[in-house]
Amino acid sequence: MKQSAGLITFLKKNCANYDHHYGGCLFEENCKVEKNRRCGYFEKAVLPMAVESGQGEIIYSAYEKNCQLSGVLEREQKRLCPDCGTGLRPRQKYCEKCARKRRQKTRREYLRRYRANSRG
Ligand SMILES: [Zn+2]
Repeated sequence: MKQSAGLITFLKKNCANYDHHYGGCLFEENCKVEKNRRCGYFEKAVLPMAVESGQGEIIYSAYEKNCQLSGVLEREQKRLCPDCGTGLRPRQKYCEKCARKRRQKTRREYLRRYRANSRG
């Protein structure tokens, strides 16, 4: 079966378990994705990065085609920062800028309260 070149390029670039020195997977004999098999790690940790880079649909459907799945995978949604609308990385709640701003604000409020309490 012919594989999507885009998928394999993406895999080699983004999979932390891909052995760039010898090829294949660092933990198994062969890279499952290269062998047209499903890989749990790839699905959980690597595929969502495609969404982030704007290649989501291409990579997801190439992977599904390789594994002969029929569109069963849940697409990782591109999430946006609620404060400014910047795209978020997986597990981020706010973009880096807004997260920093919020931390500073919390700190300022804490200090204000602290000062107010120690005055009274
Ligand atoms: Zn933001």
